[in-house]
Amino acid sequence: MGTPRLDTCVPVPIDQEELETLVDKAKDWAIMHGAGMRPMEGYDPDGMRFAPFVLLPSTFPKSEFDRAVRLQPIINELFHKVAHSYEFLFESLKSTLEVDPFTAKLFQLYETIRREGTAQALSLGLFRSDYFPHSAEDNILKQVEMNTIASSLAQIATATSRLHRYVLSELGQDDKLEQLPKNEALQGLCGGMLRAWEIYGEPKAVILFIVEPVTYNICDQRFHEFEIRKMKPQVTVIRRTLTEVAAQAKLDGPNKRLLVGKYEVAVVYFRSGYTPDQYPTEAEWDARLLMEKSLAIKCPSIHYHLAGTKKVQQALALPNALEKFLPDTNKAGPVQKIFTGLYSLDMDSLGDKAVKMALADPDRFVLKPQREGGGNNVYGKDIVDVLGKIQHSKERSAYILMDRIVPPLQQNYMLRPGRGKATYELVDVVSELGIYGVVIGDAGTILENKQVGHMLRTKLATANEGGVAAGWGALDSPFLF
Ligand code: ADP
Ligand code: MG
Ligand code: MG
Repeated sequence: MGTPRLDTCVPVPIDQEELETLVDKAKDWAIMHGAGMRPMEGYDPDGMRFAPFVLLPSTFPKSEFDRAVRLQPIINELFHKVAHSYEFLFESLKSTLEVDPFTAKLFQLYETIRREGTAQALSLGLFRSDYFPHSAEDNILKQVEMNTIASSLAQIATATSRLHRYVLSELGQDDKLEQLPKNEALQGLCGGMLRAWEIYGEPKAVILFIVEPVTYNICDQRFHEFEIRKMKPQVTVIRRTLTEVAAQAKLDGPNKRLLVGKYEVAVVYFRSGYTPDQYPTEAEWDARLLMEKSLAIKCPSIHYHLAGTKKVQQALALPNALEKFLPDTNKAGPVQKIFTGLYSLDMDSLGDKAVKMALADPDRFVLKPQREGGGNNVYGKDIVDVLGKIQHSKERSAYILMDRIVPPLQQNYMLRPGRGKATYELVDVVSELGIYGVVIGDAGTILENKQVGHMLRTKLATANEGGVAAGWGALDSPFLF
């Protein structure tokens, strides 16, 4: 029995001549509407190519899309509360902290803040909760992960939603446009940053984007900057690396206002700082700590960042964990339903059981370290190699084990720059849905909590991961049925 299939939104294959014309137009549409990326090979700071995308919007079950949209405010609330529970973060992460130096560093920073205090009690969350429909259970949604730092692709996803309207119109399928949901993800995330800026309350203060030394996914940051200027013309965005912050930033006065050069910072938006290589020296850690202590509102604060680890996700799936944060069963019940099997690999009998299970049938699982940004997980036979080596050592606590979700297949045309006509072939793909959420609050209060848009990312059915920048995935938008 093969994996179930979904129909494409229009009959395929598309006539070759029509296809070639359409592909040319769609590529130009993408690059001219900000669905672009700078190439990693042959990087050119003045150049831009279209970001990989699929020509047709992929079919996605409407009931499941609606479920994810409905759930987002509850998920925002859950992770906000988890982030404010020291006990839960510590209990969930303590075994990992012993063996994963990066997570330990983040936690150390968090402990320092708890000891020495921060001038800003509020956090800004620009979250993205990711899902696959699980084909073995009627395509019900299962959560892949929750992102609390650098949730990306809002711009390119917003543009791709519009691109697919154009494509369907070109195909003479205007009657199908109503099955493409509106997407204002970019506006939503920028609205969140501006709300935080207003709360900060200093008209001259800026929004600071923490960026990598080289940004390939530039549309996905500059468009935020342009949108902020459009929504509130008086607000300036500045971009700095952690290294630059280390050299330029200081805290000012008893209020601990964050100054970067001549700018006072109202909001810090991290698009870097989630992988170990983004902290080449202690100076970058010092910069993170300085910002964390300051009056600026952080997106994310250190406790929001920690709440987004895979280990915390696994701990939340344990019996009775959700109820602590969502005592209302009308909230906890639907969240529990989107969790797939998640297993701790700690040095106890449950961990032993999970190790045995994974080694006996590795294709059923994904092995995940505490990392972000794609390309870090272990699949199939590699699980036997990686976990096999550390099965009797506490090193295994650096990982969690997760049931592998098997999404339904469908066909699409995947377009990548530089591939010419090779990309005109129909291929089998699967799609991962992301829902964006905005939350602002402190330990006692949530001031803002909304769902603000979506992203669909599609990869070859044979690929383990679908990172777009990394070259495995492509942008998409859902065609609801
Ligand atoms: P990251 O934070 O690096 O994005 P993810 O947990 O999202 O980590 O994993 C990266 C990718 O791996 C996902 O986008 C998805 O394609 C694949 N993946 C992750 N977990 C699962 C799972 N349980 N089942 C199937 N695929 C998964
Ligand atoms: Mg992630
Ligand atoms: Mg992910």
